[in-house]
Amino acid sequence: MNFSALQFMTPVVSLSIYVHTPYCLQRCRYCDFTTFEATEIYRPEKYFNDLFKEIEQRNSIWKERQLNSLYFGGGTPSLVDPELIISTLKHLANVGFEIHPTTEITIEINPATLTEKSLDQYLSAGINRFSVGAQTFDDTLLKNAGRKHDANDTRQTLQMLNSRDLNYSFDLLFALPHQTLSQLQKDLDEILDWAPPHLSTYCLTVPEGHPMSFHRPLEEVQVEMFSEIESQLKKIHLFKYELSNFSRPGFESVHNFSYWNDRPYWGVGLSSHSYDPRAGEYGTRFWNTKSIKAYPSEVQRSGDRISDFHSEDQREELKLHEAMTDLCHMYLRTLDGLPLAALQKFPKPAQTLIEKNLLGLVEDQLLKKEENHWRLTPEGELKSNLIYARLTFLKEDLPSD
Ligand code: SF4
Repeated sequence: MNFSALQFMTPVVSLSIYVHTPYCLQRCRYCDFTTFEATEIYRPEKYFNDLFKEIEQRNSIWKERQLNSLYFGGGTPSLVDPELIISTLKHLANVGFEIHPTTEITIEINPATLTEKSLDQYLSAGINRFSVGAQTFDDTLLKNAGRKHDANDTRQTLQMLNSRDLNYSFDLLFALPHQTLSQLQKDLDEILDWAPPHLSTYCLTVPEGHPMSFHRPLEEVQVEMFSEIESQLKKIHLFKYELSNFSRPGFESVHNFSYWNDRPYWGVGLSSHSYDPRAGEYGTRFWNTKSIKAYPSEVQRSGDRISDFHSEDQREELKLHEAMTDLCHMYLRTLDGLPLAALQKFPKPAQTLIEKNLLGLVEDQLLKKEENHWRLTPEGELKSNLIYARLTFLKEDLPSD
């Protein structure tokens, strides 16, 4: 049985939690996350006290007590005192969340922020996965992107992780201004030597007119770059399991599958997003403020229902056509695809409409239907935007009652 089929058959009794840390060594030129240079805002100790308050005030909205995964992201969580990360784990346990040895606990670390001591602390606390914001081994490209670390910092971090045989993911950023295919090839050569168990690719995305939007590789070169990444990674048994993620079999990101497979997740901290598939008729999304000034007062609002603490501009109960669109788009990011059974949450006429569109994509050889799943074909992987456009449903597409 493949990985996501196993995920789908697991009863929805477990929750995934994302914890946001908004501190960074620097503000990278291409980044649009809600983060700040560490000295720009109040101290992490105060921020985490507010975050603990949020956990205490709102955890009762979740019936699930067992944690499927926990993800410390940012920002740069490895920049703050590891004791704050450990305290977060304790607070989650104190309010009744169960963390098991099988719970995937990931922390994002940026090169130049990890030490042997902090690594010991993370491991003792039960953190069992590390996500390394390496980006590239090319110092000039790193500098131009506004990163403070250099390739040697990355090598030191990878050495620490490899010498202890730890589970980690490597973030590879490509299609940077002035980057050539042979520069990317050098990155890949070194990645093959380190042999990470997991790798996430990020094709640089910046708005038109942004300083980093100029002198980028042409679109056809970007496609060639991605195909080079895919073929090189096979040499170290890293296979694509999602449109931009690769892993050794068994090292797929459990946390990300919660996002892709219509499972509940709770985002705590500044700007974090959450989703409860059971709230409302077809699920509810809700999100925290992006304002670091507003966050401390926002966490004072508590309750057993989302509407107790979030006004209408911070929550969205999904309508049928929106839930149909989200479900198709998210499942079809993974190469295991969309299980037929996942459609059963919708009324019969909605299922029929989705199936009609899926069959149209099969006719065009962008999807295939097998093993009770709809899956992308190799051509579909290259044309995923076209697939998503044809699986975007509008209210007027739905049969009237
Ligand atoms: S380190 Fe990561 S999160 Fe922080 S500014 Fe740079 S890209 Fe954004």
